[in-house]
Amino acid sequence: MTQYDVNALRQEYPILEREIYGKKLVYFDNTATSQTPRCVVEAIENMYYTKKANVHRGVHTLSQEATDMQEMTRERVRQFINAMSTQEIIFTRGTTEAINLVASSFGNFLENDDEIIVTVMEHHANIVPWQLLAQRKRIHLRVVPIDANGNLNIDAYCRLFSERTRFVSICHVSNVLGTVNPIKELIAEAHKHQVPVLIDGAQAISHMRVDVQDIDADFYAFSAHKMYGPTGVGVLYGKKHWLEMMPPYQGGGEMIGHVGFDKTTFAELPFKFEAGTPDFVGIAALREAIDYIERIGIEQIAAHEHELLEYATSQMMEIPGMRIFGTAKNKCALISFLIGNEHHYDIGMLLDKLGIAVRTGHHCAQPLMTSLGIEGTVRASFALYNTREEIDTFIAALRRILTILG
Ligand code: PLP
Repeated sequence: MTQYDVNALRQEYPILEREIYGKKLVYFDNTATSQTPRCVVEAIENMYYTKKANVHRGVHTLSQEATDMQEMTRERVRQFINAMSTQEIIFTRGTTEAINLVASSFGNFLENDDEIIVTVMEHHANIVPWQLLAQRKRIHLRVVPIDANGNLNIDAYCRLFSERTRFVSICHVSNVLGTVNPIKELIAEAHKHQVPVLIDGAQAISHMRVDVQDIDADFYAFSAHKMYGPTGVGVLYGKKHWLEMMPPYQGGGEMIGHVGFDKTTFAELPFKFEAGTPDFVGIAALREAIDYIERIGIEQIAAHEHELLEYATSQMMEIPGMRIFGTAKNKCALISFLIGNEHHYDIGMLLDKLGIAVRTGHHCAQPLMTSLGIEGTVRASFALYNTREEIDTFIAALRRILTILG
């Protein structure tokens, strides 16, 4: 596409034609999940209608075609994030499972009183797996604080390293504040201490170019459903030497070399970490989602979303009592806010009545809410198909709601 034509892009999303309470849907809950274009749904349909057979198991044609589709996606993901090898691409159910895999498997290398660094802005998916590990072993979480704009306190991060630090796990982009963390710098700092780093890329992958070799991430996790892809599929990138050292996460079919009651050996990478039948239909459709993003151009998507962010922010700041949480310079297109003393839930519910889908609550980031001294926020988040007109509708709705709430 030479010029960014948002109206043409919207044609690919029948859901955007829906009406909610008689109003045209404005979908601003993209941080939770993005909508899915026709080409991706058709890829799912095509798999079910013409290629459904279990992967890596059969000599018959269908099974080989299904296997090819899965392995073509692995190669496409490798290119997309610039991994060195397809052996470094593990399919999971999503970001959450990818992080659990690392916490559980890499966690075997940790010992009592070892330390893991996370940040206060993490999603529960990047907190609770480490806490579960801390229940198995006496491990301590060290937490990087943020400043008033929602930027990580880098000095505090550097000071948190000790001779007991064994792992760092940090989000690329905060799902509440929108802050884009300087992960290349953070990873370099950790590597000075020989500490590996996992990046939770759930909120970055569809909004910016990710090059795992350039940032030198040891692990990078993301979900397909947040990048115009299918639900139930995610990716864990891991450097080969770590994945080779790590024990399997789950046991079952696909991940074995040979099984005997006296001794079982495990498959080569990446299959060692892929026990059981994967969501091969979803995985095949993920390739279409990546092709779709690349056809539009991730830089063009980012520019469009950034324009929406600036426009929405400036309009929202004119509303009396508006408080925006997360005003970092380097920010993704999502806005968490409260207005005066109004409850986030009331605003979200009334917006829904006006056809506008936003998220309310703690956004699976309760420690961040505690540090901000609030219970929750309203969050509006934008994707490649959102428009300035939708933001106008949203702003007018907010003003109307404020008059209703008095
Ligand atoms: N990490 C972040 C920053 C997220 O925003 C989310 C989901 O919103 C997750 C992890 C979990 O992703 P999933 O539920 O797809 O596993």
